[in-house]
Amino acid sequence: MIIVMKESATVAELGHVIKLLEERGFNPRPNHGAQRTVIGIMEATGNDLSGIADLPGVDQIAPFSSSFKMVSRDFKPEPTVVQVGDTAIGGQEFVVMAGPCGVESTEQLLSTARQVKACGGRVLRGGAFKPRTSPYSFQGLREEGLKILAAARQETGLPIITEIISPELVPLVARYTDIMQIGARNMQNYALLEAVGRERKPVLLKRGLMSTIEEMLLAAEYLMSGGNTQVMLCERGIRTFERATRNTLDLSAVSVIKRASHLPVIVDPSHAVGHVDYVADMCRASVAAGADGIIIEVHPDPAQALSDGQQSLTFDAFAELMESLRPLAAAMKRPMPEPARKG
Ligand code: PEP
Ligand code: MN
Repeated sequence: MIIVMKESATVAELGHVIKLLEERGFNPRPNHGAQRTVIGIMEATGNDLSGIADLPGVDQIAPFSSSFKMVSRDFKPEPTVVQVGDTAIGGQEFVVMAGPCGVESTEQLLSTARQVKACGGRVLRGGAFKPRTSPYSFQGLREEGLKILAAARQETGLPIITEIISPELVPLVARYTDIMQIGARNMQNYALLEAVGRERKPVLLKRGLMSTIEEMLLAAEYLMSGGNTQVMLCERGIRTFERATRNTLDLSAVSVIKRASHLPVIVDPSHAVGHVDYVADMCRASVAAGADGIIIEVHPDPAQALSDGQQSLTFDAFAELMESLRPLAAAMKRPMPEPARKG
């Protein structure tokens, strides 16, 4: 249930409603919006709401319109803006996160970071722990990779995003990274969601390979109900019968999520299409679909990449893409920063 307070409700009136709900066994969670406060009641810990609607300051009581609650617009009508360094994700700017699939060496990551920065990218990606389909594939440089990421941040000032693949790794990875990434394969790893939910650090939750939008929003609910409110969602393609692309990019998910939820939405065209030929088109389509940003793979020498080379852009292709995105983003009233120099 959701208890909507009047715009004119006082702090004392709000406090009284919350106290009464607690006395009746509920666990009320207020959200102080720009216009008014709403109180969400998520769990069925109490059952007596009689008289609450008539209390001073209360406007109305209504059920949530969906199974997800804290991530819904019912609970928080205003968009969530996640601040990472001096970049606001989910605000006006269209944010580009880019970098290699995996961190392979200092030279590989630093050269990529410089190009990402020079072309106007705002966040550097790079996997240090790689969840690979085959146990014989490159698994990542692990802590060494995290150190290289931190060095690239130090040099370029770009915040970093890297994946966490298990709950035990949360303290280690959280110490290094600015954004914690939960990968598609772990979207419903509830122990991991709970561990990341206890952190107070931005998180990007990627859609599972075979998950519905509702399942993704409920996974995000684990993070938020755990106390982590800095959640971003990522559409990265889902598995369908189509084999021309690695996955099928569900761009309509952007529109659906934007209406249902206040959380920022990022698109990952690289993992969605899985081939370099289609990445740029889908990046541009993501701008038009209303995404808050994209996350894409870039590599100094894709043919030699230890993972996902076939979908990684070269430096030149990345520079060209960024140039083509800028006017589209401007047309959508989502400015992008000017490049430091022409790439
Ligand atoms: C990645 O970002 O490198 C990755 C493994 O993505 P996903 O979890 O979407 O497959
Ligand atoms: Mn990858």
